[in-house]
Amino acid sequence: MLLCGNCGEVRREERGVFKCSCDELSWPKVGRVKGTETEETDLAKHGFHFVEKDAFGDIYYLGPQSHIIHLLENNQWESSKAPDHFYYMQEYLAWIDSKLRVS
Ligand SMILES: [Zn+2]
Repeated sequence: MLLCGNCGEVRREERGVFKCSCDELSWPKVGRVKGTETEETDLAKHGFHFVEKDAFGDIYYLGPQSHIIHLLENNQWESSKAPDHFYYMQEYLAWIDSKLRVS
């Protein structure tokens, strides 16, 4: 998740930029990138594999139960299915693992 360092809110997309509650702040949309070898090895351990340029030209990592992770060029990450309170990707990956064990 991308959080505002000022108000702590998750930034949301708005007219081509990201916004939070702070009127004066906005961020340009950040590009999505392929992970490093270390990141990819780690993601693979959790069942994620790289998808390069789908029908929409997007790149991402596809994992169990259609979970999708975007790695961003600012070393952040995002996933629409991740609970908002996960700041580190490791927390999210551990959470997916625990979900899979239960089901
Ligand atoms: Zn803010």
